[in-house]
Amino acid sequence: VRGLQGQKIAVLGLGRSGLSAARALVAGDATPICWDDTPAAREKAEAEGFTCLALRDPHDFDDIARLIVSPGIAHLYPTPNPMVDAALRAGVPVDNDIGLFFQSFATQEWDNFDTAPRVIAVTGSNGKSTTSALIHHILTTVNRPCQLAGNIGRGVLDIDPAIDGEVVVLELSSYQTDLARSLTPDIAVFTNLSPDHLDRHAGIGGYFAAKRRLFAEGGPDRAIIGVDEPEGRYLAGQLAEGRADDRVIRISVAEKLAGPGWQVFARKGFLSEYRKGKQAASIDLRAVPGLPGAHNHQNACAAYAACRALGLAPRVIEAAFHSFAGLPHRSQLVGEKDGVRFVNDSKATNVDAAAKALSAFQHVRWICGGLEKEGGLAELGAASSVRKAYVIGREAAHFAMQLPVEAEICTTMEAAVAQAVAQAEPGDVILLAPAAASFDQYDNFEKRGDDFVAQVQKYL
Ligand code: ADP
Repeated sequence: VRGLQGQKIAVLGLGRSGLSAARALVAGDATPICWDDTPAAREKAEAEGFTCLALRDPHDFDDIARLIVSPGIAHLYPTPNPMVDAALRAGVPVDNDIGLFFQSFATQEWDNFDTAPRVIAVTGSNGKSTTSALIHHILTTVNRPCQLAGNIGRGVLDIDPAIDGEVVVLELSSYQTDLARSLTPDIAVFTNLSPDHLDRHAGIGGYFAAKRRLFAEGGPDRAIIGVDEPEGRYLAGQLAEGRADDRVIRISVAEKLAGPGWQVFARKGFLSEYRKGKQAASIDLRAVPGLPGAHNHQNACAAYAACRALGLAPRVIEAAFHSFAGLPHRSQLVGEKDGVRFVNDSKATNVDAAAKALSAFQHVRWICGGLEKEGGLAELGAASSVRKAYVIGREAAHFAMQLPVEAEICTTMEAAVAQAVAQAEPGDVILLAPAAASFDQYDNFEKRGDDFVAQVQKYL
């Protein structure tokens, strides 16, 4: 990390990103003062030679220049974290690893601006990982040096120093954009907005504000914005105001966009690009195996737009779409037996994501349930593709009660897969799309998806 030489920097939260922040500070000749409420985390940091100290009073911050907070820590809401509170009362800036990354990056000097590395930041409620991985895949396919980091891939402070011509693709969650003091990507992508993580951001307004920060202060050179929700339309309008047409690329899967601006939209399985009122490209997405369903077409539009903003040709991007394998736990085809397909979408941890996963398939035997989030499950009933739900989770009965489709309470993944298999007919899809978090039964959504795959393997 550059620009903090000789300064004392407090680091709160000693998970993966906290420890890498501490290491990066040492590498930049700053002194980290670390803390984590969990003794085991402190022991690990101390074993690496870091000083651990609880800072609880504004005076404790007298010689501290900044506080770096981990994304796992609820820093302000519902109640302020005591250390964050003390820092703020002492007037000490609060930041995170993403802020440190951008600050460092901005102070590097490049011989030639045209070939200087570019940073693409991807945010939004759903589709961030798929979009980021797809951009990375396309660039790698055309042999452009590229690194994937942030919420996916490596931590931002763990990546290799960027080289000439390289692109750094960052997936950023709302927790990450909320705190970063510097957020200056060259290209910023906002996929969509639906209620999620409201417990941390004091409602949808705070959640949007956290994501919107990516577009503040002069903003990126290019902003790629999903305009299928009012918030996206508002943001696109605000950014385009009084600026060159080309600064904003609007993307949609709901409508055919019109007007003189730069737009990329997908309808009936075809992606279209329009610029200055003229069609620039059309791509058939129906035959792209790694991107099934309208929600993935939205991700395709976002990744396409980001690569176009970097100057890639439409045909090159189209070719790369076809070799994209998709990510595990997102519409992942696990296998097929007797005409029944098994699909793992364990990453569908909220209602909107599950609705999108459901609408990508017909004749669905739907495995769902887990730790409930805010947001109406009743809306999911609209998915006419559901033949029956098989509900897992500790609160399976409560979850099932809210579903307007026929539901069987299975509680465990093993029972759910067994029941769905026993009742399936050729042409059915057995889909795990929980519409809930996994923490009541699993460490994370990956473990839940792995369990589904393991159960399914018994029948394949
Ligand atoms: P994120 O990183 O934002 O959580 P992912 O790409 O990992 O997004 O996808 C998470 C889940 O959300 C997927 O499993 C899928 O069900 C759903 N999903 C993916 N892309 C979209 C999208 N563009 N809009 C709505 N839901 C989506």
